[in-house]
Amino acid sequence: MINWFEKTKNQIKKLKGEGFFNNWSVKKTKYIVFHIYPNLKIPSNWIQERVNIYLQNAKIFGINPISNVNFYVYPSINSVKDIGITPAISFLKQKEIHGHLKQSPGHELNHILLGSINPSENLPANGLWEESLCVYYDGANADKKKHANFMNYSNEILNTPWDFWRSTLPSDFYPLAGSIAQYCVKKYGLELLLKFIKEMRNNGINDEYLCSIIFKMTYQELQKNWKEWLKK
Ligand SMILES: [Zn+2]
Repeated sequence: MINWFEKTKNQIKKLKGEGFFNNWSVKKTKYIVFHIYPNLKIPSNWIQERVNIYLQNAKIFGINPISNVNFYVYPSINSVKDIGITPAISFLKQKEIHGHLKQSPGHELNHILLGSINPSENLPANGLWEESLCVYYDGANADKKKHANFMNYSNEILNTPWDFWRSTLPSDFYPLAGSIAQYCVKKYGLELLLKFIKEMRNNGINDEYLCSIIFKMTYQELQKNWKEWLKK
């Protein structure tokens, strides 16, 4: 089965070969090289906002910012549909982002940073825990708990065992994921959450065990406590 991720990846590779990106303008910063869609007008603070959040989150996560990140900027998520690209995607090993103007400043850059904490073979890039951190530290000034409540998720969704989303979290549930990171950071501190993230192995297969060691409770208890906090 070929998913949108693989499809987008293959399409970008093909377009690169055809020189599609050759006439994009380039703006180099110390760590990130921005490639801008032809004739796209970028708000004056847009690039600086990304650079700032990148450095800020590298510091928060306790890692050195990675250099030579290539960030391709498209007008919007649907702007290049006809050529088969969904620009809300990060390739961790290539350190390459295909994003669009309207995304939060930090989300895709957080994927790059987290890729250096634990590779996606251990911590799936689209899994619950990686997305939870990418959303919580996305640099948009929205309260993730409020956003999750605003989404009015059904009990069925709130009770879905978290290991169900080990490798793929549908984008509808990103606010929910953000609230999980918010809860864990507030309750246990980022250090413990990062320890949890770093220790994940083999597509997060050890999440239940890690939870009992790091948060000293079962995975189900942690989820139940988060849900109570969310509803309060
Ligand atoms: Zn993401």
